[in-house]
Amino acid sequence: MIKKVLIANRGEIALRILRACKDLGIQTVAVHSTADEEAMHVRLADESVCIGPPPVRESYLNIPAIISAACITGADAIHPGFGFLSENATFAHMVEEHGLIFIGPKADHIAMMGDKIMAKKTIARLELPTVPGSDGALTKIDKAIKLAEEIGFPVLIKAAGGGGGRGMKIARSKDDFITSYEMARHEANISFGNDRVYLEKYLENPRHIEFQIIADKYGNAVHLGERDCSMQRRNQKIWEEAPSTVLDSKFRDEFGNKITKAISAIGYIGVGTLEFLYEKGQLYFIEMNTRIQVEHPITEMITGIDIVREQILIAGGEKLSFKQNDIKFHGHAIECRINAENPDTYMPSAGVIKNYHCPGGPGVRVDSALYEGCKIPPYYDSLIAKLIIHGYNRQHCLARLRRALGEYVISGVDTLIPLHLKLANNQNIINADFNIHFLEKLSEKTD
Ligand code: ADP
Repeated sequence: MIKKVLIANRGEIALRILRACKDLGIQTVAVHSTADEEAMHVRLADESVCIGPPPVRESYLNIPAIISAACITGADAIHPGFGFLSENATFAHMVEEHGLIFIGPKADHIAMMGDKIMAKKTIARLELPTVPGSDGALTKIDKAIKLAEEIGFPVLIKAAGGGGGRGMKIARSKDDFITSYEMARHEANISFGNDRVYLEKYLENPRHIEFQIIADKYGNAVHLGERDCSMQRRNQKIWEEAPSTVLDSKFRDEFGNKITKAISAIGYIGVGTLEFLYEKGQLYFIEMNTRIQVEHPITEMITGIDIVREQILIAGGEKLSFKQNDIKFHGHAIECRINAENPDTYMPSAGVIKNYHCPGGPGVRVDSALYEGCKIPPYYDSLIAKLIIHGYNRQHCLARLRRALGEYVISGVDTLIPLHLKLANNQNIINADFNIHFLEKLSEKTD
């Protein structure tokens, strides 16, 4: 049993993990940069250690400082949260080398899924459908063009090490291809230190649908249904829903079972998400995230399962306490990512929170580390709160969402609250009629 967890993260996810630890009677150690001395995750943890100056390379990505903090405070496990070191196989390996538990999958699985080419090959071998594309990395431009012609334009050139919606370039014709290919390789090299790129058919009007899975080390694997994360800006999610409105329960059960079989076959342990694009009744795998995701709460709302708690218990060597048949889906949930950004331009907005009033009432959950007077430093991700709503069905959920967004007051920085209000009142969204391009098209109309 784990007794003390060091949380190698900040903001709302650090608090989310801290809360799960408290529920389990586990002691917590917060780490923070000098910019986060007064942050809520530091205030609420049992102990805290300053690990460096504000830039992430010197603090939240500083592996020696984080592992030293765990050793000095006598922590027996490290939870990486999401972002930062959560999908760094070297870090996971080093944590274990120091006799600590990494609360996540094995380093080999992180490495396997972190390379999107290897991930697609693995998943295809397990007989799950993947987006049509190249078998591996593109090596010769003439061969790549030939393949693109075979698959049919438009195609997407994607970075093997990509993430965060970056490192993707569309080629709409043969003439575009060389420029897009060179740009994708260049960007991949700069952003991810790896210029390997691969080819995928560009799906014109898909939805982004992902399945949450959880597996223990005794071979038990369960899926917790799907989330629709089609509402994106610059390939990054800002509004997520569970369940999706396009899968029925038969499809969900059958496809979910195929996924859990695949996960068991590779011996995956921990929580994870398999991401797919959905078009014309078919799901096509794009990638797997080997960590807890930002949008995990909507799955918690419809299943009643505390995913972070289960993640910690599994890492401590416990058996999953439920089977697939125990999972029942109730109602509908929506998460709005409240980013500190201009709602029209998405420009990040740093500053001090002047007024803060959090919504409440039935069906409302807010995951956030905000408080009046707290600083939003310019160095980190702009996500400052997640508004998570549950309702008996989708319309009920949307009504509660509009009510909660109307109550939410955050002043001192720009936020996406006005954009979410616009979305919650949009007739296409009310009718569940959207795909991954919805938001882009909406802003083109408003411009
Ligand atoms: P990242 O790891 O950077 O998030 P993903 O492969 O998960 O990259 O893709 C992010 C988003 O980019 C998807 O949710 C989708 O909106 C878009 N996308 C990715 N692959 C394709 C594709 N083949 N066709 C159309 N859109 C795609």
